[in-house]
Amino acid sequence: MLRVNNLSKHFGGVKAVNDCSFSVKKGKITALIGPNGSGKSTLFNLISGVLVPDKGSILLEGKEITKKSVEMISEMGVSRLFQQSRLFNNISVLDNLLLAFDTPSKNFWISFFGLYNDKKKNTAIAMDALKAVGLEAKANSHARGLSFGQKRLIEISRAMLKPHKLLMLDEPVAGVTPAMRDKISQMLLEMKKKRETVLLIEHDMNFTLKIADEVIVLDEGKVIAQGTPKEIRKNPKVLEAYLGD
Ligand code: ADP
Ligand code: MG
Repeated sequence: MLRVNNLSKHFGGVKAVNDCSFSVKKGKITALIGPNGSGKSTLFNLISGVLVPDKGSILLEGKEITKKSVEMISEMGVSRLFQQSRLFNNISVLDNLLLAFDTPSKNFWISFFGLYNDKKKNTAIAMDALKAVGLEAKANSHARGLSFGQKRLIEISRAMLKPHKLLMLDEPVAGVTPAMRDKISQMLLEMKKKRETVLLIEHDMNFTLKIADEVIVLDEGKVIAQGTPKEIRKNPKVLEAYLGD
């Protein structure tokens, strides 16, 4: 599904991502783990087009997405949750979700033929998503009134509603309460059942090793290990990278 070849990104003297190569399999949850500062978010920014790599290439289903714009990459099927919240506080929770259907190409068709402007249908889908996370009562409230964890649920729901091939989640459970963590875990298990292709960054090793099919370990911008959770658990390089953190 996704292939990253010899990707590098330096910030001054910092080799944030240093000759990284890996692939993400269709229908699997692939976790990207590594100590703080090992380059995980930078990799996400490179894949989603927020940053332009110094070297290397990124292919989505064999099509090159390296150096394409954020909008173009999103259109091509990459949906992403950012580490920092990206909800609009001054519009309703429901309207935040409806933004998932607002893609540039769709707008083109709307203006051209008046097609796909099925707000009723989209609203019904968004309401179902709200029900699934137990927040239907908040549909018409401003997003600013939500707790941090509730915002996370809405953002993950939005990323899922947006038409996509690959879903990228940057630390979905960081900073949320244990109850919310359980809810988000449920969402991830649901994604796993639906055979979504997910690339997940998560700092919590136990959580990650429980949920992932495949794990990629980064250290100082390099891939130091890749394998199943079972293989990763007993990999001495991984233990060293974490103990040394
Ligand atoms: P992680 O997400 O694994 O914690 P990051 O990708 O955020 O790591 O950071 C990797 C390294 O790159 C760190 O040393 C960080 O300080 C540095 N870095 C990240 N973004 C920038 C930036 N915009 N400018 C300068 N240095 C950066
Ligand atoms: Mg990060």
